[in-house]
This record gives sequence, C-alpha cells and structure tokens, in this order.
Amino acid sequence: MLQVTETETLSEPPEPPDQRVRQTLSTPLSTLEPTRHSQLKQTPRPALWADIPDEKWLDWRWQLAHRLNTLEELSQIIHLTAEEIEGLSAEDKFRVDVTPYFASLIDPDDPHCPIRRQVIPLGRELQAFEGMMEDSLAEDKHSPVPGLVHRYPDRVLMLLTTQCASYCRYCTRSRIVGDSHATFSKTDFEMQLEYLRNTPQVRDVLLSGGDPLTLAPKTLEHILASLREIEHIEIIRIGTRVPIFLPMRVTEEFTAMLHQFHPLWMNVHINHPKEITPELSQALAKLADAGIPLGNQSVLLAGINDSVNIQRELVHKLVRNRVRPYYLYQCDLVKGAGHFRTTVAKGVEVIEGLRGHTSGYAIPTYVVDAPGGGGKIPVMPQYMISQAPGKVVLRNYEGYITTYVEPEDYDPHMIDHLDRFAPERSEPGQGGVSDLLEGRSLAIKPEGFDTLHSRGGAQHRLNSDEAKWKPYGVGEESPLLHLPIPIQREASNGNGHNGNGHNGNGHNGHNGNGHTTALLHKPDSPNGHNGNGSGNGHHE
Ligand code: SF4
Repeated sequence: MLQVTETETLSEPPEPPDQRVRQTLSTPLSTLEPTRHSQLKQTPRPALWADIPDEKWLDWRWQLAHRLNTLEELSQIIHLTAEEIEGLSAEDKFRVDVTPYFASLIDPDDPHCPIRRQVIPLGRELQAFEGMMEDSLAEDKHSPVPGLVHRYPDRVLMLLTTQCASYCRYCTRSRIVGDSHATFSKTDFEMQLEYLRNTPQVRDVLLSGGDPLTLAPKTLEHILASLREIEHIEIIRIGTRVPIFLPMRVTEEFTAMLHQFHPLWMNVHINHPKEITPELSQALAKLADAGIPLGNQSVLLAGINDSVNIQRELVHKLVRNRVRPYYLYQCDLVKGAGHFRTTVAKGVEVIEGLRGHTSGYAIPTYVVDAPGGGGKIPVMPQYMISQAPGKVVLRNYEGYITTYVEPEDYDPHMIDHLDRFAPERSEPGQGGVSDLLEGRSLAIKPEGFDTLHSRGGAQHRLNSDEAKWKPYGVGEESPLLHLPIPIQREASNGNGHNGNGHNGNGHNGHNGNGHTTALLHKPDSPNGHNGNGSGNGHHE
C-alpha cells in the first residue's frame, strides 16, 4: 500500500518535462500573450532571506523544505506578542507551518496584520465556545468511503491529502489536516474511484484535502487521469490554497499537466487583498492562460476581512486577476476558529455593501455551511419587500422601491412541450423544497414526526387507512399518474391572476376557478423520462 506522506510530497524529485500530454495546447503556454502581471516584480524579502538566491527562493521544493513552524523560527521574522507566544507554545495546537514566501508578507510589527493572523496561532485559539465541533459540517458522517464526502445529489468532495503548504488557523478540517498519519493512501484513492465508477449520479468531483496541489505531481496526475476515464464525471474541480502560500508551485509544466484534464475548474482561497502579490498574480495568470476557470472562496474572518471596504478591494483585485469571487463563507463552528467568527449580520452587511455598488460579477454568494452537515445555505439582504397576486414590490441597493407587475396570462405549462425532452436527474431523498414545488411531495417532516403525533395510540378504524392522506395529484402514487395531461387553454380566472392555479404536479395545468382545460396525452419522451410508473414524469 503506497502511503502518500508528507515525506513523499517534500522529497518529490524535480518534475521531468511532461512526456505524456494527451491533448496539446493549440498554442504553447510559453508563447501565449503575456498578461500585464507577468511584468511585475517580486515581493521584497525580509533580511533573513535576503541572500537566498532566486533559483532557490523560486523553487517550491525549497520553500516547502524551509517552512517555519517553531516559536524560535518565527521570532526571527516577527516581533511576537505574548498571546502569539502562548499560542505557539501550546502542546495541543493545530499544526503550524508557514512557507518563507508567505511569511515574507507578514508585517513583523503589526499584530493585526491580516497575513499574520491567518497563520500564527493565538492563545485563545484553544478556547471552547458554544456550538463548537470537531467536524462541524459532519463530513465524516457523509462519507461512504474514507476521504470521499457525498452530501449533494450530483457531486462529491474527494479528500486526497491532509497536507497543506501552510496551515490556516480557522481550518474547517483541522480534525485531520496537518496530520500526516491521517492522510489518504493509494488504497483509499482506489476505493474513492471505485465508488465513483459505481455511482453514475455523480457528474462533478471536487478535489480537496488538505491541499491537492501538495501531492506528488505524478499522484495528482494519476488521480485526474483516473477520473477522466469515468464517463459520467463531467467536470473536475480543484480547491487549493497553494497558489497563495506557494505561487512558485504553479509552473508552466504543472499547468500543462492540468490542461490535459479539461473541463477542469479551480477554486483558490484568498481572504485579504494583501495576499494578492505580484507572485500570486503571475500564478493566477498561468492558470487562467491554461484555460482553467478560476473562482475564489474566502472566509469571513473577524479582524481580517469583516469590512465592506476590504471586501470590495478584494473582489476588485480578484476580477482584475481573472478570478471570479465565488463564495464568501461564514466561519464554521469548528474547534480553533471561535475568535475568527463574526455575526451572520456582518456577512449580510458586506453583501449589502457590494450588491449594486459594484459589478455583479465581482460579488460572491455569502453562505452559511449548515452546522451538522446540511450543505451551503445562501444568505443575503432582503430585496423583496412585499407581494400580492400579480405584483411584487422590490427595493434596490439605493433604497429605491419599485413594483414588478407580473403577467396575467403567464402559462407555466407552455414549456412542458420542451421540458419533457430535457433530461431529468434523479435526486432520491434530496429533492427538498423543490420537490414540494414540483409536486413530487406535499410536506417535509422532521424525523419522528408521525410517531410523535400518533401519541402512542393504537391503530383503530379511523387511523388505519393510509390512503386518506395521499394528496391527489402529488407524488409517485398520485391517481393523476394515469390520467392524460390537461393543458391550460384559456386566460385568466376572473381576477386575472393564476398564481395559485396550478396544482403543483407540473402536468395537469391550472385548476383555478373559471378555467377550462383541454386534455392532451403526454407522449413518451425519447430519453425514457415519460412518467410511466415513476411518478409524474420524474424518475427516481
Ligand atoms: S489551506 Fe485549506 S485545508 Fe489547508 S489549512 Fe488552510 S483552510 Fe485548511
């Protein structure tokens, strides 16, 4: 069993020129139009590394081998505070490692430096807080095989390593990250791949960890190639902070290797504009030039980026570097992150300060990753002020309040003729509120709801017939399944509004007052989603 260890990562021999490129770039990366950033200079280095030759400083292996992790090493470049000394001296602290490059961005005299706060522990990091958990997103609970998290219907998270180039103090996966003994083996990768081969509902795989870009390049390439052999995997995404901690890792050989595996997307993790250095800009340009769409995921962190002005500067710098702000995360309820947490109201204030005030393209989706494992929940300011049949009252970012008049003759079933040929995707048990709206179910009940409401009573003549509670026209066992499809033919229902007219199963048109219907049989669709025997056209 090949254990992918930190040692292997650090001792990786120099990358040979890539001989195995399956799909060559139409234009070699080296001859692509240079970006404006390629002309930029390097960030100045602290005196400690002033004599290190460029060929070493710009070598990612040298950077990894010379990471700083002890109080003594870090005190050579930072005037540490008493609380930082307490944090660095703690026995049971989350792993500390900082690349010399990232350490060179730290202001040695400012304890509030946003770079410094992300990687230097404080004594209070060890304080417990209400709601704190080790695995606050319950990832290990949603894991069918080690390292593979399957929470959403059509996509998975594949954890490849527990190693990172440097370690963020607020890390969501601090339960395993940094621990080389907890990392994933070749056997684990095989189990993950086997699960994916046998799970055709998965079309999107996110590689994460730890940081997949710290893996031995051949290992990463092998995993990417194995994923590409699985026909139903449409896209591969990589989540990484290596370009931020170790921009020299993004070599042209490396981006050429990645280029073989398109469609490949990448999310980087930048929290503060100070992280966007000339070196990072060059790395991002190489990735973007290799055709990799770039997104950014940042975490809202108290005292680091919980400010509209800082967030605006960050997103503007991101889009200038061809990186789309993707998510702004509320800091998780994870051990070690208590002092980084803000209120959710602060996140709403940040989005209020961005939406309308700058390009929509530069605005991330603010999300709370549901404690306990419910996935990302978007949160935003309230823009809809009120609603009545036919009218929606909205406000914009300036406080301008307006009315959107809805169409009186909108027929939501006009699309049925095209919709029936569009592929459906099965989401067994995960349809959620969308299932309610589409008529696949009528209610979502908390666990134990039916048992609780039976009050321990016995079955009797009034409560034993389940058919009593089967809603007509809703769900798989609907009697309407066997009826032809009614199509709405006429206009309004008296007051001109049909908003509550359709009964939710998506096929039988409006049932409001005054409607007449013409019945049409829904033909079998060529892709087999014809509704027969599987509910109202939604195969499960
Ligand atoms: S780079 Fe990501 S996985 Fe690694 S320590 Fe930071 S947040 Fe955690």
